[in-house]
Amino acid sequence: MRATVMFGAGDVRVERVPDARLMEPTDALVTITRASICGSDLWPYKDMPQTQTGRRMGHEAIGVVESVGSEVRTVRVGDFVIMPFAFSDGTCVFCHEGLNTSCVHGGFFGTESVPGAQAEAVRVPQADGTLYVLPGRTDEALMASLLTLSDVMGTGHHAAITARVRRGGTAAVIGDGAVGLCGVIAARRLGAERIILLGRHPDRIALAEQFGATDVVSERGAEAIARVRELTGGFGVHSVLECVGAGDAMLTAVNIARAGGAVGRVGVPHYAATPGSEPAFYGNIGINGGPAPARAYIEELLPEVLEGRIEPGRVFDRLVDLDGAPDGYRAMNEREAIKVMVKP
Ligand SMILES: [Zn+2]
Repeated sequence: MRATVMFGAGDVRVERVPDARLMEPTDALVTITRASICGSDLWPYKDMPQTQTGRRMGHEAIGVVESVGSEVRTVRVGDFVIMPFAFSDGTCVFCHEGLNTSCVHGGFFGTESVPGAQAEAVRVPQADGTLYVLPGRTDEALMASLLTLSDVMGTGHHAAITARVRRGGTAAVIGDGAVGLCGVIAARRLGAERIILLGRHPDRIALAEQFGATDVVSERGAEAIARVRELTGGFGVHSVLECVGAGDAMLTAVNIARAGGAVGRVGVPHYAATPGSEPAFYGNIGINGGPAPARAYIEELLPEVLEGRIEPGRVFDRLVDLDGAPDGYRAMNEREAIKVMVKP
């Protein structure tokens, strides 16, 4: 089969690889109908050292179950499924607590042992716990939004939950990438009265405003902090959704949070020590967040998508086939595309 392989920074190729196959009795084999390129895929695209073997990319997908192992009980051949970016058994203590990304039998797609989903097919470990089976036939127009439930929409929701967004509160979203845009959707959905987007790209800002952003701050650093404080009577916001992962974004997040507020961070941290520990301490500001338990959130978010109340699929502004994946990386990296969908 063919799959997307990253060999080093800026070096993504579509290669022939051994067919995905069942390895454990709890596995399912899924034919990919749609996958996507994630903002987090751009970090290795910027700095991965060159390798001979490469890394099989992709952790966001929807598809059809092709075969299942002997111990798979609930997922069936022919099921149309969402594949969240982490696999989980659905039965351990953390899965029961809704924190599937800490599953004791879990892990992530796009690693050496569990190759990624920007491919024709993927092996899915812990199929019963991992895969979310979609009901019946699904409208083609909903595919993009369903695909976001594998990661970005769940991640934006997690940022809002861990930033403790509440009805009538104020929120700020740092980052106008796909996760930030989904964070705006989530903050709106959870009832934030004022949603300030920190972003700079006109097309993304326009989409954020349609999703519910009430204010936009395009300054950076100290100027951004001053501007958010000015917009909020000098106090800052109750909830900050940090959707970037860079140290300066985190520092901004802490400094625009109101005393007693919270930061929900979902951008993979690219800093060794969390910035802003002193203002966070004196302001009693909670610093929460981590990898979103996207699997656990599907239950809540799916009806919103199916009934058209949210349209996170609008973050996709480019569709490529598998051969187009390398150019998809380039386009996202150069901020030419917000988010790229791959249709193998
Ligand atoms: Zn588990």
